[in-house]
Amino acid sequence: MPRIVVLGAGFAGLWAAIGAARKADEIGPRAREVEILVVDRNPYHNIRVRNYEVDLSEAAIPLTRLLDPVGVKHIAAEVEAIDPAGQQVVVATDGRRETLSYDRLVLTLGSELVRPAISGLAAHSFDVDTYQAAVKLDEHLAALGKREPSDARATVVVVGAGFTGIEVAAEMPARLDRAGVAGKRRIILVDPHAPIGSAMGAHGQPVISEALLSLDVEARCGVKVNAVDGSGITLSSGEFIPTETVVWCAGMRPSPLAGTLSGEHDGHGRLVVDEFMRAKGLANVLANVFAAGDIACRMLGHAHATVMSCQFARPMGRYAGYNVVADLFGEPLLPLDIDWYVTVLDLGSWGALYTEGWDRKVRTTGAAAKVTKQTINRERIYPPRSGSRADLFAAAEPSVQRPPKTQT
Ligand SMILES: Cc1cc2nc3c(=O)[nH]c(=O)nc-3n(C[C@H](O)[C@H](O)[C@H](O)COP(=O)(O)OP(=O)(O)OC[C@H]3O[C@@H](n4cnc5c(N)ncnc54)[C@H](O)[C@@H]3O)c2cc1C
Repeated sequence: MPRIVVLGAGFAGLWAAIGAARKADEIGPRAREVEILVVDRNPYHNIRVRNYEVDLSEAAIPLTRLLDPVGVKHIAAEVEAIDPAGQQVVVATDGRRETLSYDRLVLTLGSELVRPAISGLAAHSFDVDTYQAAVKLDEHLAALGKREPSDARATVVVVGAGFTGIEVAAEMPARLDRAGVAGKRRIILVDPHAPIGSAMGAHGQPVISEALLSLDVEARCGVKVNAVDGSGITLSSGEFIPTETVVWCAGMRPSPLAGTLSGEHDGHGRLVVDEFMRAKGLANVLANVFAAGDIACRMLGHAHATVMSCQFARPMGRYAGYNVVADLFGEPLLPLDIDWYVTVLDLGSWGALYTEGWDRKVRTTGAAAKVTKQTINRERIYPPRSGSRADLFAAAEPSVQRPPKTQT
């Protein structure tokens, strides 16, 4: 029985696995015997983009609910090594190693936060990179609410003012409210570049400034972090900020396993894939390897490549799933083309910012953009949870959604 192994059950991996099952079903009896096996270190699908939110209760969905109805197997294990020449991967569960062979591999191990070797950072900081990390921050904030008032208790320092850092900082007033950290609070966003939000373009940046000002989020621009300890954070300017809560949001990189493979990589270390999501370069060795999501890079026309975002990860996953089965059974592959790009940035109780295009034209702001953001985070990117095979297959169709609707 041929086996397809999908590594990772995030936005790309989940849809690659369901998309593969869908295509096998479509081909009919000769393909139905294919085994599709998903390996992820967690037994759930994390709606990772929600990890900064006040309420995490819907941010992790058991894989059993999503994969069992479509006959996809899954194991919770750490992927340790990939051997494309031998067509096998090494995985570990509770320290026990196992080698899994495959006929086709889909690499969807995503990305991870960059954690530089700053003194005290690992021991004294939080992040929202994974569901577990988000829950840890949540529990910490809840515990803060029960402690004696102090400046350090009432101060949150968010490091890195990329999209995630801005969303974490903007959501923090609501999170502190919920945790019962009342009175005078300080939320400080630290970034080596100025001004905060410049990545959102000349039109979007002032919107972010206005929102952060109204939320009382302070900025420290043009500085780096020298050290973190249990009492606070020291910046390269020499400033020491007493705090019990440092949230590290600076930098993302593809899964380190991408770097262990030969083949073509982009400047971020992502595996370059062709229009069918096949890993490019050294075709003889990697012919059986597909990749999608944050670990992969696909050129869109000549000027732009996919960015690490669920907007690209989900369709890349659906096409990788379709194509890996089509490839295995000698059917034509489907090329992926995505002709739009938008960004919808959450700005907490102020609202949100919706920009369109690579030049980030502002489409909507404030409450109108927030409706779009909530629709994306709570509906659009969710897999059907009905447990219905037909619903899951319908959602895994290899197609590209149109951009999210705007509100007026
Ligand atoms: C707080 C936050 C907010 C974000 N907001 C947005 C947003 O608004 N819009 C947007 O488009 N994008 C956003 N992103 C980015 C988005 O979440 C990613 O682009 C998306 O998750 C990529 O999907 P993926 O499937 O490639 O990777 P992931 O979703 O990261 O999935 C990878 C999977 O692989 C598993 N895995 C990794 N390594 C191993 C291993 N060695 N062994 C076993 N399992 C492993 C992980 O457990 C995970 O389930 C945000 C990210 C964060 C953290």
